[in-house]
Amino acid sequence: MRLDVVTIFPEYLEPLNVSLVGKARARGVLDVHVHDLRDWTHDRHHTVDDTPYGGGPGMVMKTEPWGDALDSVLADGYERGSGEPALIVPTPSGRPFTQELAVRLSERPWLIFTPARYEGIDRRVVDEYATRMPVYEVSIGDYVLAGGEAAVLVVTEAVARLLPGVLGNAESHRDDSFAPGAMASLLEGPVHTKPPLWRGREVPDVLLSGHHGKIARWRRDEALRRTTAHRPDLIERSGPGSFDKKDREM
Ligand code: SAM
Repeated sequence: MRLDVVTIFPEYLEPLNVSLVGKARARGVLDVHVHDLRDWTHDRHHTVDDTPYGGGPGMVMKTEPWGDALDSVLADGYERGSGEPALIVPTPSGRPFTQELAVRLSERPWLIFTPARYEGIDRRVVDEYATRMPVYEVSIGDYVLAGGEAAVLVVTEAVARLLPGVLGNAESHRDDSFAPGAMASLLEGPVHTKPPLWRGREVPDVLLSGHHGKIARWRRDEALRRTTAHRPDLIERSGPGSFDKKDREM
C-alpha cells in the first residue's frame, strides 16, 4: 500500500518511522511519502493561508498550493503504477473514523492524506478532487485538534495493522473491540498475563482452568459487562440476533 501525506509539518509524521508502521515500511508492506506543502508555494514567505471570504476569525488554507501538491503526488503515483488513489481528508466535520472504515481503507492500494491547519482547506480543493477519486472526510472524535497530522497517525496505525504480514500473529485483531464476527458489538474484556499472583491480586481461576468453553463464556460475559458500562450505545444499536440466551441472563 502507498501512503502520501501533504502537510506543513513533515516532522510531525516522524512516528511513521517507528513501531508497527515503521516495521511495515521496512518490510515493504507500506510505501510512505511525506511532502512539505510549502514546496508548492511560489512567494518569498511560502504562504499557505489567507483570510476567509465572508469574514470571521482564523485563516483558511489556499487552493493553489494544495492543488499543485496533489497534482504532483498523483502524477508520481500514476507513473509508478500505485493503483487507484483515495483522498483522506481529516476534519472534525467528517464522518466518524471507525474500525469498519479502517477495514475498507486497508483494502485500497493508495491513500493520500491532506491534514490541514488553521480553519481548514478552501472547500474547492475537496470538491475538485472528488470528481477524480473517492474522498473520505474523516473525524477521529468529537473534539477539535490544532491540525490533522495526529489524525493521520491514528488512521495510518489503524489501517496498517490490518495489512497482511504486519502483525506477527494474523489472529491478533480477530477478537479486538469492534472487530467483525461473533463479538462484533462488544468491547474486548480484561486481559491478564504471568505471574498468577501480583500484590495479592489473583488471575481469575477460569483463565488457568484450561477449559476452552468456560474461558470463552467468561470472556464474553466480561465483554458484555464492559460494553454495558462504557458503551451502552453499542448494545442498543446491535440487533437481537447478536446475543444468545446466556447473554440475556446477565
Ligand atoms: N474550524 C474547523 C471546524 O470546526 O471544523 C476546525 C479546524 S482545526 C483547528 C484544523 C484542522 O485540524 C482541521 O482542518 C483538520 O485537518 C484537523 N482536525 C481537527 N480536529 C480533528 C478531528 N477531530 N478529526 C480529524 N481531524 C481534525
